Formats: sequence, structure tokens, C-alpha cells
Amino acid sequence: MTKEEFQTAFKPIADGLFGKQGGRRYERPHFDVRPLGDMLMDLADIPPEEWYGYAFSREPLNGKFQDEQRREWMEKSLSCGREYAKKICHKYQTKDPKALAKAMGMDVSFPEFPEKTDRVLFAEFRMPNNICIYMDAVKKAEKLFDRPGVSEVLTRKLDVSRLLLSHELFHCVEEEYHEEIFTKTEKIRLWSLGFLHNDSNIIALSEIAAMGFAQEIMGISYSPYLMDVFLVYGYSPEEASGLYEEMMELAHRPVPPIETGEEKDV
Ligand SMILES: [Zn+2]
Repeated sequence: MTKEEFQTAFKPIADGLFGKQGGRRYERPHFDVRPLGDMLMDLADIPPEEWYGYAFSREPLNGKFQDEQRREWMEKSLSCGREYAKKICHKYQTKDPKALAKAMGMDVSFPEFPEKTDRVLFAEFRMPNNICIYMDAVKKAEKLFDRPGVSEVLTRKLDVSRLLLSHELFHCVEEEYHEEIFTKTEKIRLWSLGFLHNDSNIIALSEIAAMGFAQEIMGISYSPYLMDVFLVYGYSPEEASGLYEEMMELAHRPVPPIETGEEKDV
């Protein structure tokens, strides 16, 4: 994938941050660009449990669920991710995602861009033991720490590539414990006919748990879902602003009006 292809792949953003979910999206209208620090501050204020609307919005089976069910799955998946973070850190006696990856026998690489152009990714886990962290996105994000308010919200010490790595490590943990882990054992019945039936995993549960896992390992108070806005901002402030509005609406929060220069002078 070339730099140009990677850039154009952002319009519209087809997937969430980690790109494992292929929900259908409408073509976005134009969005006014908002200051990054303001958006992150609002998003950091949403408790991790209240991200269920956004978390399920990329789930292919989302139309089959009710909010009550989404909320219950959100809580269970977050706890699952946090619980396994503690378990794995205890097992390998480290909280450092790089050391964990090594102990787990993962092959981690840091290429600039993804190879394929069909979806936008910031990081990726490939079976059985490959993790790629795409550094162009990480470097662009690191430059944004100087924007007003950003390091206050994210903390100056936040290491973006470690956060991405922590998320991907969960997908490896999930494979290892697939017979017992909640995100793999919980299924919904798509159809049944006599003795035949078809049960499916719910992809959103894995993503939510991976966010809980990453949050626990990184020791951050906010939901890593806000990284979607942060990482996209490096490529398209307008797309990131649109994503912010969508996140706020899905979390039932008011979307503040944009302060224009004129209004500020009044
Ligand atoms: Zn993921």
C-alpha cells in the first residue's frame, strides 16, 4: 500500500480503529473541523461502559440486538478483557506489552503501512502469531500531542504503539483460551431448523474486550475507543470530527456547537 492509497482509504472511514469489523456505512456529509483537544476531552469523559452504542455500530449483526442486550454484553466483555489482562500479566510477570508479546511467542513487526488497500488499519493480528503495528499512523498521532489540551487528556506518557499492541495481544489471548473465554463462548443462534442450527460469534464482543484488555495494561482511565478519533485526525481532521459527532450521539451526549472565530469575538 502506498502512502497515497492509505490516505484515500480514509474517505469514508470504512472501519473502526482496528478494522476487524465490516459494518455498512453511509457516505459521510461534510463536517466542520473541531479542535482535537476539545473532542478528546469530551470523549474521555464518557465512561468505558457507556461506549456500547459505538462499539456495536460496527457489528455486522447489530440489527438483531436491543440496547439492553448491548449494555449487558458491553459490561461482560469489558470485564472479560480486564480479567484476562490481569491473568496474563500475572502469568508472565510483566505489564509491558512488548515483553508480553515476546513471552507469548508473538512475532511483532512495525511496517509503515498495511500491504492491502481494501481496509484501513492501524494495527493487525494475524493467526497464528503475527502482529503488525503500522507506524505511519503512530508517527502522525505522536505529532498531535503538541495540540492544545491533547497531552492533558491522553497524558504525555501515553505510548500509542504500545496501546495498539496491547489491543492486538488480546486477540492472541482469545485464540489461546477460545474454549473458555467469554468472547468466544458467547454466541447467538442465527437460525435453527430441526436438528440443524447455525450459531455465530459476535465480533463486537472481541473488540470491546480487547479495549478493556488494553485499558487495563496501559493503566488509562478513558476508553481506548477514543483513539479512533485521535488516529484518524492525523489523516483527516474532518473525518475525525464526523466520527466524534457520531460517538457523542451514540453515547447520548449533546454535540456542542462549533465555536467559530466570529462567535469568539462577541
Ligand atoms: Zn481488534
